Amino acid sequence: MKESLFNQRLQSVLHSLEATDSLRSLESASTSSLWISQGNRQLLNLSTNDYLSLYDDKEIAASFLSSYPEYATPHGSGSARLLTGNYALLNEFEKEIASAHHKQAARLFNSGYHANCGIIAALGQIEGVHFMVDRMAHASMIDGLTMGRCSFSRFRHNDLSHLADLIKKAFASPQTKYVIIVVESVYSMDGDRAPLKELVALKGMDERILLYVDEAHAIGVYGENGYGISEETDTSTEIDFLIGTFGKAVLGMGAYIAADKVVIDYLTNSARSLIFSTMLPEAVMAWNRFIFHQLPFMKDRRQTLWETAQRLRNALGKAGYEGLGSSQIIPITLGSNERALQAAYALMERGYSVRAIRYPTVAKGTERLRLSLASAITYEQLSPLVDYLSK
Ligand SMILES: *Cc1c(COP(=O)(O)O)cnc(C)c1O
Repeated sequence: MKESLFNQRLQSVLHSLEATDSLRSLESASTSSLWISQGNRQLLNLSTNDYLSLYDDKEIAASFLSSYPEYATPHGSGSARLLTGNYALLNEFEKEIASAHHKQAARLFNSGYHANCGIIAALGQIEGVHFMVDRMAHASMIDGLTMGRCSFSRFRHNDLSHLADLIKKAFASPQTKYVIIVVESVYSMDGDRAPLKELVALKGMDERILLYVDEAHAIGVYGENGYGISEETDTSTEIDFLIGTFGKAVLGMGAYIAADKVVIDYLTNSARSLIFSTMLPEAVMAWNRFIFHQLPFMKDRRQTLWETAQRLRNALGKAGYEGLGSSQIIPITLGSNERALQAAYALMERGYSVRAIRYPTVAKGTERLRLSLASAITYEQLSPLVDYLSK
C-alpha cells in the first residue's frame, strides 16, 4: 500500500531522527523490576524510578491487600473530583499530606504531569506573575508555561546569581508584580539538587518572590521521614508551592501540591487538569496512601540507597568523571549520542540495563549514561560496571 502524502512526511521526520541516533522507541522487555529479562539473560535494572525497591516486594503488596481488601476492585472513580469523583479517602489523604509537609492544605492530581501543567498555567493567570524557571526543569513545567501563555524567563541551571539578576530586571518592569521561582529539588537528568536554603534566603529578600519546588525524585528518598529535600533542609514552610509525585519512589500514580489553603482553593477553581480529568481509581490512591504512610518506616532502605550512591560516585570520581550529581541519579557524561549508545550496549553485554540519554533530551556534548539506583542494588553488583567505565 502506498503511504499517504502526510504519512510520507511523518516518515521523513522519523528518518532524520534515526540519522542522528535520536529516534525513540518502546522496548517490549521493559519492566520496573530489579531484573529485566532479555532473551535468556537477566539484566540489572539501572534505569529505575522504584528507588525503594517496592516492585518486587511481595510482602508489601500482600500487606496492602490484607489491610484494604475492598481495594482489590480496580474500577475507576467514574468522574472528575468536582463532580462525583470525590471519594472519601481523598480528603483524608490530603490532610495527611499537608501535615507531613507542615502546610495548611494539599490537593491531589492525577500525575506529576497533570499537576505541573495545571498548577503553573493556573498561577500564570494572575496578573503580574512572571516565572523564573531553571533551565533543567522538567518538561511538564515548561508545558504548563506554554499552555497558560505565561510570562517567564529561564535561568542557568542552579545559577543563583543569574537568577538574582533576572529577578532584578523583571521587577524593573511595572508589569511584574510577583516572581515565582520554579525548581526541582532533585534534577532528573543531572542528579543534582536545587540549593533550597539559598533559594529560601533569596526569596526572603522580597515578599513578592515565591518558590515552587517539584520533589518528584526526592519524595520517599530524602529526609528523616522520606518527605523530600524540603524535609532534609527544613525548608518546607518557606516553599510556597510544594509538589510531590507518587509515580516514582511510591511506585503508584498521581501527584499533589501542598500549599496555603487559599492557594489550594484557587487551584480547585482554576487548574484545568484537575477540573477536566477523571480522578484516579480509588485502588490506586489507596496504594499511594498506604506507601505514603510507610515512608517514615523505610529509613533503612533510604540509608542503603544513599550509601550505595555515595560509593558509586566516589569510584566514578576517582576514574575521572565529573558532574556526578548528589543523589541516587548518577549521570556519566560521554559527550555524544554515539558514545553514549556504545557504552550502554557494552554494559548490556555485561549484564546491566542502562539508558543512554541523548540529544535533544540533553544538550549537545552532554550526552550521557544515566544510572538510577534502588535500595535493593548492592555496591558489589555495580563494581564490574565501575571497572568497565574506568578503563
Ligand atoms: C517524573 C516527573 C514528573 C511527572 O510525573 P508523572 O507522575 O510521571 O506524570 C514531573 N516532574 C518531575 C521533576 C519528574 O521527574
